[in-house]
Amino acid sequence: MYGCNNFCSYCVVPYVRGRERSRRSEDVLAEIEALVKSGYKDITLLGQNVNSYKGDISFPKLLAKAAEFDGDYRLRFMTSHPKDASKELVDVMASSPKIAPHFHLPMQSGDNRILEMMNRRYTVEQYMEKAAYIKEKIPLVALSSDIICGFPTETEEEFENTLKAVDAVGFDMLFAFVYSPRTGTPAAKMEQIPHEVKTARFARLSELENNKAQALNARFLGKTLKVLSDGGENG
Ligand code: SF4
Repeated sequence: MYGCNNFCSYCVVPYVRGRERSRRSEDVLAEIEALVKSGYKDITLLGQNVNSYKGDISFPKLLAKAAEFDGDYRLRFMTSHPKDASKELVDVMASSPKIAPHFHLPMQSGDNRILEMMNRRYTVEQYMEKAAYIKEKIPLVALSSDIICGFPTETEEEFENTLKAVDAVGFDMLFAFVYSPRTGTPAAKMEQIPHEVKTARFARLSELENNKAQALNARFLGKTLKVLSDGGENG
């Protein structure tokens, strides 16, 4: 699918890519089937907000059907919006070995006032509930997220709420960004905070995440896992 209807206050996507358009499920499924038959091993369903797919069937149903072809392949999808991450989607992931146990669920901030300023349309509590459900249903899931450091007007206390939330969830991977204004977006007109404050927050978040990820990686010690190599001597 293409485009996005969400208008997060920092993002240009809805302006440059337009509103959401979903491809027909039969076209998506035919493409996947052809890729599997050609030997493709790792297929990603893409969209700016892929889990709000509104074709003739829902996104969880599309994913479930995409996992039904014969063949040795894995499916992924990105990017997801937390407000559209349903229990049904998690249940479909949990029930199919062909769907990679990886969920990228951008949190962006762990503070409710900042989430509102971002126009994200979920609360930290709602996010935590969804992350807990994902971890409960898919125990070895790799959960990843995006966080913006130094969103306009973000106070020290609000940033610390983000640190607490990141610590509480436990992400395998975190894409942290220093906020940078995008011309034409509402956030660009908000009160900006100094660059050195943003970069200092980014450094603190990165340090926290490095320690968290290292600790989480320990759960794979001694396990044999299936991986896809796309390079190297035998690649
Ligand atoms: Fe849409 Fe994602 Fe941009 Fe928000 S951040 S407007 S969900 S593309």
